Amino acid sequence: MTDLSDSPNPCLTCGACCAFYRASFYWAETDDAGGTVPVELTEKLNDFRRVMRGTNQPHPRCVALVGTIGQSIYCSIYDIRSSVCREFPVAWENGQPNEGCDKARIAWGLPPLPPPTAHSDQPPHDPTTTTPSPQPPLPSAA
Ligand code: SF4
Ligand code: SF4
Repeated sequence: MTDLSDSPNPCLTCGACCAFYRASFYWAETDDAGGTVPVELTEKLNDFRRVMRGTNQPHPRCVALVGTIGQSIYCSIYDIRSSVCREFPVAWENGQPNEGCDKARIAWGLPPLPPPTAHSDQPPHDPTTTTPSPQPPLPSAA
């Protein structure tokens, strides 16, 4: 789950990756070891790694995930989440696709996020001088 400077943030109507993947990270990222992630929200994976509770099971859902997937959802420890969560980019962040994002969304019946349209380098459209052409349907981000 990712933060975006531009709104709307598609992650806030998604949450699929937090209920699809195992969120594992280096054990010292928990707050009892000098890190930030509340240790009580995690469990031991092995001698080197811990996981977010709820994500190491056949039908994962992170214990820190609050809300309804595909509707309205957020990470309750967003500012102190682990590196694996911080480093998972939403598709098309910085112009790059993310198959992991697409895969999680598809698994939850959500369409992959569409790439951004190339419009920032176009001159502004003046509707008083030209006839607007029909707009193609845009895939929903929700
Ligand atoms: S699957 Fe993609 S859009 Fe959905 S919460 Fe994760 S990063 Fe955001
Ligand atoms: S800690 Fe937050 S970002 Fe990471 S898997 Fe859980 S809900 Fe998602």
